[in-house]
Amino acid sequence: MRFLPVFLDLHAGPVLLVGQGEPARAKLRLLLAAGAEVRWHAPDGNYETGVADAGRLTVLHQDPLAIELGGIIAVVCAGAGELGHAMAARARRHGLPVNVMDEPEHSSFIVPAIVDRGDVVVAIGTGGAAPVLARRLREKIETLLPARIGDLAAFIGRWRKPLSREVADHARRRFWEQVVDGPVGAAVLEGRQIEAERALAELAAAPGDTSVRGFVTLVGAGPGDPDLLTVKALRVLQDADIIFYDELVSSAVLDRGRRDATRVLVGRRVGRPGIGQDAIHRLLIEAARCGQRVVRLKGGDSFVFGRGGEEVAALRDADIPYAVVPGITAALGAASAFEVPLTYRRQALRITFLTAHQERDAEAVDWGALTDEKMTVVVYMGMTAAPAVRAGLLAAGRSPMTPVGVFARVTRPDQQAAVGVLDNLPELVAEIAEGPAILVIGEVVTHSAPWRANNPFELLSSLGIAAE
Ligand code: SAH
Repeated sequence: MRFLPVFLDLHAGPVLLVGQGEPARAKLRLLLAAGAEVRWHAPDGNYETGVADAGRLTVLHQDPLAIELGGIIAVVCAGAGELGHAMAARARRHGLPVNVMDEPEHSSFIVPAIVDRGDVVVAIGTGGAAPVLARRLREKIETLLPARIGDLAAFIGRWRKPLSREVADHARRRFWEQVVDGPVGAAVLEGRQIEAERALAELAAAPGDTSVRGFVTLVGAGPGDPDLLTVKALRVLQDADIIFYDELVSSAVLDRGRRDATRVLVGRRVGRPGIGQDAIHRLLIEAARCGQRVVRLKGGDSFVFGRGGEEVAALRDADIPYAVVPGITAALGAASAFEVPLTYRRQALRITFLTAHQERDAEAVDWGALTDEKMTVVVYMGMTAAPAVRAGLLAAGRSPMTPVGVFARVTRPDQQAAVGVLDNLPELVAEIAEGPAILVIGEVVTHSAPWRANNPFELLSSLGIAAE
């Protein structure tokens, strides 16, 4: 991030606009709509605006390179050509923020795409690199935000001071969240102000709500791509006081959490063991008992090889309220990232997810139950035990030519795949630079993108078939 979004107070003084034609008029409309007082110099002398200026527009016939700049709070150049560059240099010499439209190299600030809902303003920037993308994002945000969201901000603004005296310090944030999320907010967004004020009075008179206990939410972080979080997961993350996360959680996902939330890594770190499951239970319970909104963030889904079952049992035993938000498990992440349909008409009629962390896990697996050729087998934590997985499946009678894929760091920018046949599984695993990775075994792998991309001759030679 090179440009920090800040909001300029337009009551502080006039903005100087230099330029002509439609670009200048567009900037003028923006500035006037935002309530600015504008001094405008158009080199072509055409000051036709086409908009009501409410007396806030002053036309400047003098050379803007020679005028007094005292009191001006910002300079905007649009459709000003070389004069714009000279003006920008002058503004910089005076320490004034300056924007030259579409020329970030001459600008000390850039104007974002804006969603304007009165007091609620969303600014979208791409560092000046991709204005079209910013506009697309704006359209999306426009559809997300309720029309009266600005009214809600204004409503809270009116009541915040008077009511904050009534509500105890520690309960204040929770109180206003109840305003936003509960019946008060709903009434404002419906345009029913009187009803909203009545609901607000009722809420303020019910201090029972200030003693709300803490709450734990188990959230599935998915395999890595933060855009794969569910809407609910995102909301919970943004609402968290404290986040206990595993080493598998990508930093991109963690960054979607509330900025002020405390983050605690409870998983293993490279070369260091984790704190242990019992210690994790204790931490969750203690944090909830302190009244915190606790998020337990786990890679993939909490209930797929995630020990989520044990954690909710511990919470139940401790009488802590909790909820579970699902995540995309690694198998499904790999399926979409590499186009591996886990089932396929007539080819793959069932799926088994299994774990083979250690040799002894692999020994505990009943491989004989996995001989069905129409079954896709997905192995979690199977990198080290790959030779045992191969041995188990071959001994049970699966063909050494069964297609297999090793899919690593799926949905992350550096995801990697190695595809081949069961007989070569350990060699394929060795091609993987770094975990985590899952193994997918079954006919369906032939549909995957890496399989299709493979040079057929290479594939044949990996099968031991040489060309004449
Ligand atoms: N709860 C997780 C699984 C935890 S077990 C889930 O639902 O996905 C840890 C194993 O998950 C890893 O050893 C690996 O086999 C798999 N895994 C997790 N994230 C992965 C990723 N981004 N790419 C490939 N495999 C992953």
